[in-house]
Amino acid sequence: MTTKIPKVYQVGDVTVTRVTEMMLGGIPPEVYFPGSWDRMFLEENRDSLPSGLIDGNSQLIVSIGTWVVKTTNHTILIDTATGNDKNLPLNPDLANLQLPYLKRLKEAGVTPEEVDYVLLTHLHVDHVGWNTKLVDGKWVPTFPNAKYVFPLAEQEYYSSEASHNKANEVNFNVYEESVLPVVEAGLTQTIGPEGGHFLEIFKFIPTPGHSIGQMSISLKSDGEEALFGADVMHHPFQVFNPDWNSMYCEFTDQARISRLRVLEYIADRPVIYFSTHFPESAAGYVTRNGDGYKWDFI
Ligand SMILES: [Zn+2]
Repeated sequence: MTTKIPKVYQVGDVTVTRVTEMMLGGIPPEVYFPGSWDRMFLEENRDSLPSGLIDGNSQLIVSIGTWVVKTTNHTILIDTATGNDKNLPLNPDLANLQLPYLKRLKEAGVTPEEVDYVLLTHLHVDHVGWNTKLVDGKWVPTFPNAKYVFPLAEQEYYSSEASHNKANEVNFNVYEESVLPVVEAGLTQTIGPEGGHFLEIFKFIPTPGHSIGQMSISLKSDGEEALFGADVMHHPFQVFNPDWNSMYCEFTDQARISRLRVLEYIADRPVIYFSTHFPESAAGYVTRNGDGYKWDFI
């Protein structure tokens, strides 16, 4: 990935900047959208779709990253990508990474010490990794002055035997390396099942399905609104095909319900959608398109 000055979005009085940890290409769509992928969708819409969604071999491009929100008083991170040095024996593609994420964070104007809050939409492997870093063989909080805030249902599930199953093998060892150390450091705060407001400008909104207690996070400032959608969608193809689940959605019927609710909400309002995994800028607008929806990057 080339280093460039991050794009800064203004939402009312606050700024939002993307820090991309990884861009991943060459992903077979029939694997990523198991049981849903329809080759005809691409053939019929290839000319009208936004550019940058697929590579030259018609394989998907996705990203993993963090959103940085700066207010007058606070620096906030939303989700913390995958992290370096992680021991993920059941997820070798994301194990033992050595990526310059903290350097990119600095280029976006953030040092670890000045992060006040880390808001986590859910506790999957690619959303919690930089919560911690490996120092002298021990996992320590990467953001030592931050409060880490996440849904209680996610903590209960991923710290329990219930989550240590076949459907969850990509998340094996994730809670232990990337969540438990910040819990033990006393740096966490949980959000109850109903969601709710946080720091006045944010609201946690339950959007379960992709994971058991996932929440999207709304941002409202000075009359403007944005939504950090979490993994309600992984790729813009799902804006056009809301019934397509990704291979990582754990509770598939509920995931479809949450996706449709989010699309309906943001399509009828001037809400910027900040995705976790879309390619390109990862940000854009959903609008109505006949009976369905369409996506444009900003
Ligand atoms: Zn994810």
